[in-house]
Amino acid sequence: MIDLHTHSNASDGTDPPDAIPALAATAGCRAVALTDHDTVAGLGAARRRAAEVGVVLVGGCEVSCAFLGESAHVLVYFIDRDEGPLHEELARLREDRVRRNRRLAERLSALGLPVTYEEAVARAAREDSLGRPHFAQLLVDKGAADSVPDAFDRWLANGRPAYVPKARVHPGQLALVAAASGAVCVLAHPLTLELDWPALERAVAELADLGFGGLEAHYAAYRPEERQALAQLAARHDLVATGGSDYHGTIKAGLAIGTGRGDLRVGDEVLERLAARRP
Ligand code: AMP
Ligand code: ZN
Ligand code: FE
Ligand code: FE
Repeated sequence: MIDLHTHSNASDGTDPPDAIPALAATAGCRAVALTDHDTVAGLGAARRRAAEVGVVLVGGCEVSCAFLGESAHVLVYFIDRDEGPLHEELARLREDRVRRNRRLAERLSALGLPVTYEEAVARAAREDSLGRPHFAQLLVDKGAADSVPDAFDRWLANGRPAYVPKARVHPGQLALVAAASGAVCVLAHPLTLELDWPALERAVAELADLGFGGLEAHYAAYRPEERQALAQLAARHDLVATGGSDYHGTIKAGLAIGTGRGDLRVGDEVLERLAARRP
């Protein structure tokens, strides 16, 4: 069993990066990918711990792309280098994340909510790892929302009053810099695009043409029949059907590394098939 989608507090998860391989080992995973938003800052610590606990650490990240007027999340795998075109793109995205977060905090204040930028930053491991889930948890702790999802529904989700977009790269550009850095792109949780199946089929065909290596079919939050339909979609476009939990620690309740909500199981062979797509 493996898990190809997890977050640490290098972005908006709640566990330190070195806890991720330990949790994966305990869950019985042979390999785990750390895929923090826009950053590879956790990979060094995670890699060292993975060696200690006997788990394969796949260096990754998750990037929000502008695609078909939506935000398509893309997982990037096999990030083994310390610098290069991919790292430069990620640095640009983190800079814009800081700008977005400052504006988001201003919006919340203007709405009369008792939240400052500094308070939010204090909850993140670093200023540029701050994400909307941190703001959501802060709003819950201040009594301004009942739960993290409720805070998104009221203020933080796209179209809600405190929403501020952040810079998004085109998936073709991301595929280029990823390939130049020896990495492989995979479309994350494809149903988030909210396309009907014919439109999703066209979108996936386009990403396959751009050099994507896989599609996250076995996503913990999806029903078995959705995962199966997505795996068939991947196969039709010669993409690897990958999978993972999208574990975020306590900020996203009810998800475990490896098993997701209890019914997830991604086989070891998925990683071998994905590794064969490396440039
Ligand atoms: P950011 O990159 O800072 O814009 O935040 C993205 C994170 O917010 C991801 O981890 C998502 O899982 C989380 N997120 C996005 N929309 C929602 C939502 N409606 N409810 C709960 N979490 C969400
Ligand atoms: Zn996240
Ligand atoms: Fe995502
Ligand atoms: Fe994620």
